[in-house]
Amino acid sequence: MSDGVAAVSKFLTWSVVDGPGNRFVLFLQGCNYHCVTCHNPHTIGVCSDCGACVAVCPSGALKKSGRKVVHDPGPCISCDSCLSACPTRANPMVRRMTVNDVLELLRRNAPFLNGLTVSGGEATLHLDFLIDLFTAIKAAPDLAHLTLFIDSNGNLPAEGWQRVLPVTDGVMLDIKAFDPERHRRLTGADNDLSLASARLLAEAGKLYELRFLMIPGETDSPEEISALSALAHELGPHTRLRLNAFQHHGVRGPAATWAPMPRAGVEAAAGVLQASGLAEVVLPSVWLP
Ligand code: SF4
Ligand code: SF4
Repeated sequence: MSDGVAAVSKFLTWSVVDGPGNRFVLFLQGCNYHCVTCHNPHTIGVCSDCGACVAVCPSGALKKSGRKVVHDPGPCISCDSCLSACPTRANPMVRRMTVNDVLELLRRNAPFLNGLTVSGGEATLHLDFLIDLFTAIKAAPDLAHLTLFIDSNGNLPAEGWQRVLPVTDGVMLDIKAFDPERHRRLTGADNDLSLASARLLAEAGKLYELRFLMIPGETDSPEEISALSALAHELGPHTRLRLNAFQHHGVRGPAATWAPMPRAGVEAAAGVLQASGLAEVVLPSVWLP
């Protein structure tokens, strides 16, 4: 069991792009991948209280209190200067929230919601909190109508999924690359667990959507698209497949200079996947210029 508390990087009271319907989204802090193309890199690290962000805060919202860096939401102007200044890709504005804190927020917004999605960072790093939270929601008569989803990179062993799936309605799973060396280069981790997770989730009937980020010169190759097609067919021809297009928004480091993925390339890949017999191929909902 967790102590019922998790480090929350951010929450959205309403989103239509994080699963089916209108959803409350909780972004938990910390990730076991270090994706060079991450568009939320400040959710990856854990704050070491180094203090580097305090000096760049223009509103005095960050202070050192003993060895800790403390954030005061009152004067914060949400400029995100602290995020850019952090050497460890952490976020000094992270708040510790209890299961009851989240239940309270859900109750305030429940009439407008179809469900809750827990994302990250990597949501499954907080597995005990997820299980406690989902169990509490399913036991609450006024919240039991909410569907409970996880947005994950799949880097979780089968034993972990077996613990959380009984209280989970669906999982959106990112596959970052099929070629093992490319996956290591893009994420800093192997892809064997993610691929095993895709199979386990499909078998359990809990794979809501498989997601694949197309990056020019990396994951847009015929070999990668062919491997994606093969996996989706193995999981079932009705596997819902979402193609995302690499863009610069939020990206830090060398990948910020990489070319964005052109719309024509994503549409061509979607055509190949559909022609192979995959029924549900979803394109990005928003195309950035
Ligand atoms: S976003 Fe960060 S740097 Fe900007 S005002 Fe808030 S705490 Fe300070
Ligand atoms: S958020 Fe980053 S820069 Fe700020 S104290 Fe923590 S580790 Fe240092």
